[in-house]
Amino acid sequence: MDAFKKDQMIPGRRAVLRIAAVLGAVGLTRLLSAGEAAHTPGRPATASPPAGSPAAGPGAAAVPRRPSSYRLSPMTEFQPPEYRPARLPVRREPLLELPDLGRSMVLTFDDGPDPHYTPGVLKTLRRHDVRAMFFVCGEMATGQRDLLREMADDGHVVGNHSWSHPELPKLRPGRIRAEMERTSEVIERTLGRPPAWFRAPYGAWNRHTFEIGADLGMEPLAWTVDTLDWKSPGTGKIVRSVMDGAAPGAVVLSHDAGGDRSQSVAALRNYLPGLLSQGYGITVPRP
Ligand SMILES: [Zn+2]
Repeated sequence: MDAFKKDQMIPGRRAVLRIAAVLGAVGLTRLLSAGEAAHTPGRPATASPPAGSPAAGPGAAAVPRRPSSYRLSPMTEFQPPEYRPARLPVRREPLLELPDLGRSMVLTFDDGPDPHYTPGVLKTLRRHDVRAMFFVCGEMATGQRDLLREMADDGHVVGNHSWSHPELPKLRPGRIRAEMERTSEVIERTLGRPPAWFRAPYGAWNRHTFEIGADLGMEPLAWTVDTLDWKSPGTGKIVRSVMDGAAPGAVVLSHDAGGDRSQSVAALRNYLPGLLSQGYGITVPRP
């Protein structure tokens, strides 16, 4: 059953969500400036709405506020002291496409990092000098921090894909928060800044995942092209699914972990130059 339908929203909440939807584009712009803010000491926290605004108001209050180790113990080892995660407008739906990309697409790789496959993905991306997004699982990332650093050093975006890849809507809000917080913490400890993007495992979102994600300063990102590479359908099929789904602003879902991903790695070596030769840019959402 759709978890949304089970959630009884009060009228005020609906109004807030409508406002949040209207503010969506503004929110993305704010988000895109958040990364910059991390490197600009003294810059006002433009991504944080004032108290009483939609994101900080009734929507935020709908989630039980529990003590948060992530909030109470901010990482200080590498973190610029001025920086705090942004609290974004709460969305009801994940972003499917990204505006203003022109004839560019976004490649995303989920479930890693995996020492068997992630290096091959990174190598191909490096060869073509393009940036991608990696939605990592905390339980994978915590033992592969060198790969996380390699991603960041190459300019890729490291996003949060929960800790252990559960179906989040089946969990209580406290568990959902723990899944997301622990992963953000590993990323922040390793890279010096928390992730700005979140993707729910299996694309299974509910109200709590949006609200908690926003509270942790993350935007939800889905995809438009599912390569179904986790089924190991053959390298050629993966390549065809990407080339058939290619379009301006498209977001491609692949995996660099969770099983034998050799076909995913091989397919990238094929479709990436294919996309580039068709005139597509490959980019990540940032200023
Ligand atoms: Zn996944």
